[in-house]
Amino acid sequence: MHEWTEETERLAAGVLAYTTERLHLRPVPLDGPQTPTELAKEAGPTVTPSGIGGAEALRVFAEVLAPACISIDHPRYFSFIPCAPTPASTLFDLVVGASSIYGGSWMEGAGAVYAENEALGWLSQLAGLPPSAGGVFVQGGTLANLSALVAARHADQAARERAGLARPARYAIAASTEAHSSVSAAAAVMDVDIIGIEPEEDGRLTGEGLRRALAAAAAERPGLVPFVAVATAGTTNLGIVDDLSSVAEVAKAAGLWLHVDGAYGAAAMAAPSRRHLFEGIERADSFVVDPHKWLFSPFDCAALIYRDPELAKAAHSQHAAYLEPLRTGEEWSPSDYAVHLTRRARGLPFWFSLACYGTAAYSEAIERTLEVAAYAAGRVRRLPHLELICEPVLSIVAFYRKGWDDADYYSWSEELLSSGTGFVVPTSHQGRTAIRLAVVNPRSGEEDIDIILDSLS
Ligand SMILES: *Cc1c(COP(=O)(O)O)cnc(C)c1O
Repeated sequence: MHEWTEETERLAAGVLAYTTERLHLRPVPLDGPQTPTELAKEAGPTVTPSGIGGAEALRVFAEVLAPACISIDHPRYFSFIPCAPTPASTLFDLVVGASSIYGGSWMEGAGAVYAENEALGWLSQLAGLPPSAGGVFVQGGTLANLSALVAARHADQAARERAGLARPARYAIAASTEAHSSVSAAAAVMDVDIIGIEPEEDGRLTGEGLRRALAAAAAERPGLVPFVAVATAGTTNLGIVDDLSSVAEVAKAAGLWLHVDGAYGAAAMAAPSRRHLFEGIERADSFVVDPHKWLFSPFDCAALIYRDPELAKAAHSQHAAYLEPLRTGEEWSPSDYAVHLTRRARGLPFWFSLACYGTAAYSEAIERTLEVAAYAAGRVRRLPHLELICEPVLSIVAFYRKGWDDADYYSWSEELLSSGTGFVVPTSHQGRTAIRLAVVNPRSGEEDIDIILDSLS
């Protein structure tokens, strides 16, 4: 089956034809899930001793399986955080797959790692970190947050060891109660506590809030040792950006590592109209931004950047007899900077797209989504049966439909999906069910917003 035959030739043509058509379909079909029973009935058994053949497997995918997957790049997919890869990035994903690149070490993947580092360099420069900063593309914001927090704790332990201090009985992460769920997931994996900080009225974590929470924790739980402050640059539910400057000030004064979770929002550093919101990120010890969210790369791709990569390497390098030949010198091995070893060079599609279109095109595309989000907020404000939760800071617009109970929200959402109109799942704010539109696809226009809002009357 590793030989290249005439049948392989036909399969290659079929796969490339499918890919090309899917990439330029306008509109892309929204599609939607099916039950396991329906899928079993339509697809039938596919994994058999003699195989069903490439043509048939591709047919089953195209006709049965793909239509049972929601198209994340549909212009009226506004749930969660959508993904809207550029054609260049998706096409290059094929090239990455075809090239059999091992992206874990410099020795094996130098060219790929060089290119990935170019892309990371742009992000790092947007944030204002020094040229010595660096990092790695990992699978998602969750793994990026975990890896950064592990590095932060390791750095604290190492500093204590050097100072002849004992290990703390209990470590803690200081984070806003609005921080992403992956921060508490990381705390659980690491078996550390969380010092939860109530944000201000406007939803932002401030330095003063952090200072108060640290003082309260020190008084109430003297054995608890905070080692990191996590700020969020664009909360997933409302897009709120914490007051990074004041948080940085207090975190530094308290000797804490500052981690900025910008998985969704930090892409807006590239938008001149929003850059000011990120002041203070240049003081971060680590930050995260997901190109698979608002930077138009296909899944899965999260950028994790450290101010001092050596601290991350000390925490994450794996040592084993069979790995030692990879350590030839000063080269940059991506596996040293997160909780992973083997990795796909998943930053390459993002790099290729940046190289193709240029960074200015990214700024423009992000500004366009901000414009459409502002349009949506403006319309919501003017419609008497809708109530805007807050002015969008970034590209998330959240609001209530007056007079609706939970069941109304959910049946509206299901009807939108089953009719192929759009995908908008309800969220909640302060315990009340709400509608939330996350605009990250530059192909989502004012007319798409109108279709969704008109369906609410
Ligand atoms: C999406 C998101 C995450 C998690 O990222 P994944 O790529 O889904 O793992 C973490 N933090 C924030 C703020 C996010 O928006």
